[in-house]
Amino acid sequence: MQLRIPGPTPCPPQALEAMGRQMINHRGPEFGKILSAITRKLKQVFQTKGDVFVLTASGTGGLEAAVVNTLSPGDKVLSLANGAFGERFADIAEEYGAQLTRLNFEWGKPIALDAAEKALKADADIKAVLATHNETSTGVTNDIREISALVKKSDKLLLVDAISSLGCINLPTDDWNCDIVVTASQKGWMVPPGLAMVSISERAWQAYAKAKMPRYYWDFAKAKDFFQKGQTPWTPAISIFYALDVTLDLMLGEGLDNVFARHVRVGQAARNGVKSLGLSLFPDEKYASNTVTAINATDKIDVPKLIQLLREEYQVILAGGQQKLSGKIFRIGHLGLVYEKDIKSILEALSKAIPQAKKG
Ligand SMILES: *Cc1c(COP(=O)(O)O)cnc(C)c1O
Repeated sequence: MQLRIPGPTPCPPQALEAMGRQMINHRGPEFGKILSAITRKLKQVFQTKGDVFVLTASGTGGLEAAVVNTLSPGDKVLSLANGAFGERFADIAEEYGAQLTRLNFEWGKPIALDAAEKALKADADIKAVLATHNETSTGVTNDIREISALVKKSDKLLLVDAISSLGCINLPTDDWNCDIVVTASQKGWMVPPGLAMVSISERAWQAYAKAKMPRYYWDFAKAKDFFQKGQTPWTPAISIFYALDVTLDLMLGEGLDNVFARHVRVGQAARNGVKSLGLSLFPDEKYASNTVTAINATDKIDVPKLIQLLREEYQVILAGGQQKLSGKIFRIGHLGLVYEKDIKSILEALSKAIPQAKKG
């Protein structure tokens, strides 16, 4: 089976093997060593000197942690969303009592900088900005460097969902002044679901000191206290820590720049291949993601039928569209453990399955 959805992604055999290890005491020295090694390596991939915490949660838990550790009920928050995940981030902040200004951009298009700048200028009381680096639902990568420049010009906090891009697409946390960056284990990290990894800038800690949203499981001060003792506040998903220790070595061994370049090549191969099959890309190609390719189904392709055929006859698992894109697009995930040869075999399967999946 070729699992090519935008998470969970395939794990290398070394990671699967590592997870077969016996359990250890999560309050003992052996776990402390693993936690400290993983955190040191994560900081290299996040490109930060700030704190990075590993939370036992899926990515959404990391987004919730970002919100509740930096904001208070009633705080004004600007949401820049161009897809389902951007809207989810805003929903979380709203649920905890933040006052949202939602800029919702057309799905398939990037976050527009001029509109963001106008919204920031229009309301001096905005405290934080929420943005998605890679919008997995539409296959668009937003320009976080430019967004950050705007946000910092007006001196606001920037919280970034980089769940499906970090470790695949360059995002230098410190250089680009991102206050919180969130990612999750089952995306580009080549390990199973179960961990969210979150960075926190000095400025985010200052926000923490004033933030009044309720928090217990997600409390970053607890995470920091326990980290100093070589522990996590709550029982961690130990097996995934074993695996992440191994895959971080693989990533750093390959070299971050090489990992990013491989994703650029694979993304380009996917886009070229799809177009050579006579299909069109859903997003504006200039902003197309190097970790997930979204393809228009046109009115001729029956998406559920295509996905079923690919699974049952070609052993390829692709994703459909989410929410309003259901039935309208399908998506190839190409993040983490993926090479050009994998794209080639998916395209071969697609070229055979598409004529069989015509409507009517
Ligand atoms: C996958 C994903 C999420 C959600 O993560 P879960 O691990 O399913 O909670 C959020 N944002 C983006 C951009 C994602 O790709």
